[in-house]
This record gives sequence, structure tokens and C-alpha cells, in this order.
Amino acid sequence: MIDLHCHLDLYPDARNLAREVASRNLFTLVVTTSPRAWRATSAVFRDYTNIKVGLGLHPEVAEQKANERWDLVELVGKSRFIGEIGLDGSPRFRSSLELQISILEDALAECERHDDRILSLHSRGATSTVLDQIARYPAAGKVILHWFSGTQKELERAIELGCWFSIGPAMLASEKGQQLAKNMPIERVLPETDGPFATRAGIALMPWQAIDIVWSMASAWRIREEELRERLRANLAALLNHSCDSNPLVMRRSC
Ligand code: MN
Repeated sequence: MIDLHCHLDLYPDARNLAREVASRNLFTLVVTTSPRAWRATSAVFRDYTNIKVGLGLHPEVAEQKANERWDLVELVGKSRFIGEIGLDGSPRFRSSLELQISILEDALAECERHDDRILSLHSRGATSTVLDQIARYPAAGKVILHWFSGTQKELERAIELGCWFSIGPAMLASEKGQQLAKNMPIERVLPETDGPFATRAGIALMPWQAIDIVWSMASAWRIREEELRERLRANLAALLNHSCDSNPLVMRRSC
């Protein structure tokens, strides 16, 4: 139904897959890993009004793609959706953390110069540093923390900072992920897959499987699955600033 964070451009046969995604999902945010990828992917998916492409520079490739950081800043004015950006402080990528921070700062500062940006942020192993940055650039836009994996305290700080959260079946596969998700404010949560990187039983999650989070989250939040689906549609409308709430046709025309 909704996938707020996937790498549709990186699935095999992405062009044909996009057609199916556009018809099965109400809305899909395709995040990219570099400004160059954003340009190419935007062109390929241009005809799908309910597939949006985020301008990104993934922290895991900060070093390899450092020469694209100025493109990132320059293109922020051209893309309402920004992502995947953020920080990765896990052992493999910690060595580029300073560079990652500097790129993130530039991106957030540029977002502050434009209205209405929607950002999908990566924060693995660097949650509190990401939150520090979000606090420094409060006018950057609506910030969605994708696959949040911080502590309960960090979650509380993120909520205070006004962050949104995108959660997926892969995150909910762990006890910790489930516990965090349960403590998120229901009105600021959206489904994601992070496919094709995120998998279930060894198979890449497909963008229409993000909504499977209702299976466990409906009971975690003690509401009916159908109610939760409605809630998620309303959340999407609120994120995109649509007063038309859950009418998918209206949403498709104007977002
Ligand atoms: Mn991702």
C-alpha cells in the first residue's frame, strides 16, 4: 500500500517492477544513494505520479561519492524528497564519520533554505549524532528516521524533536525493533521495506509488502488491522500536507 523507503532502482528489472509497484501501492518513496542515481532514477520513473524519488547520498558510500556532495546541495532545491542521507557509525563505516557529518550538515542547511522538504534519514550506529544534527537544523523539513535502531531514550528525544518514523517487516523481525516500534507515536509512523537490501526468509522484500507491518503492529497498538491501514493512509496524507486524507485519487493527482 505505502512504502516510504525502498531502493526500487536497485531491484533486478526495475523498470517493469515499477509498473507493478505503481499499481499495487498507493505511494512509494524510492530513495537513492547518490545525486547521479537520483538524476537517472527520476528520469526512469518520471511517468509514475505515485512513485517519488528522493535525492540522496548514502552515508555508506560517503567516501566513494564525496565528489558528488556539491551536486547534492545544488539539487536540494529541485527535489521535495531527500534521501537516503544520514550517518552510519557502525564499525565498517565509522572511519568516514567526519566526512558523513559534514555532508549531512550541508544537506540539512540547504534544506532549511527551501520549504516543505521531506527527508528519509539513516542513523545506524550514530543515532544521537543524527539527532544532534536534526536539532541544529530545525527548519530542514519533515524528518523521517528510517529503520530506527537507537535506544528508548534516543527514541524519546527523536519524538520530542518532531521526527517521523518508517518501520518495516525486517525491523520488526527483532524483539528490539518491535519494542521500539510499539513506543513510537502511531500518528507519526509509516511503512517501509528498505528493499531489496532488507529481506524476509532470505528473499528481498517487495515494496507492496511494507504494509505487512500491520500484522504485528495492530496487536502491539491494540487496534484492528483495518483501522491501522486507515491510520497509515491518514499519516501519509499528513506527511504530504494533504487535507484530502485517505482518498487515493486526490492524493495521486496532487502529490
Ligand atoms: Mn535504505
